[in-house]
Amino acid sequence: MAALFINVEVDPALAKDAAAVKKLVEVCPVNIFAEADLGLLAIVEKNLDECTLCELCLQAAPAGAVRVKKLYGDREVLVRTD
Ligand code: SF4
Repeated sequence: MAALFINVEVDPALAKDAAAVKKLVEVCPVNIFAEADLGLLAIVEKNLDECTLCELCLQAAPAGAVRVKKLYGDREVLVRTD
């Protein structure tokens, strides 16, 4: 089932960077990121709504490379810009 509340977008270049992928897998407390074949990033859709908005993924990636979107209310986007 698709997530109802949260979506996470990752820059395609970052999603192919094996070291960056490992970091994202490591930091997310609710396992939204997984490592797929060849070190590519996979988003675990069934876990998306477990997102705690902790921003650890934003801090682990270059500015703007990971965007956490709330799919409700004012559609606020959590994104690190610096
Ligand atoms: S904000 Fe936290 S819980 Fe949500 S995807 Fe990023 S690391 Fe995971």
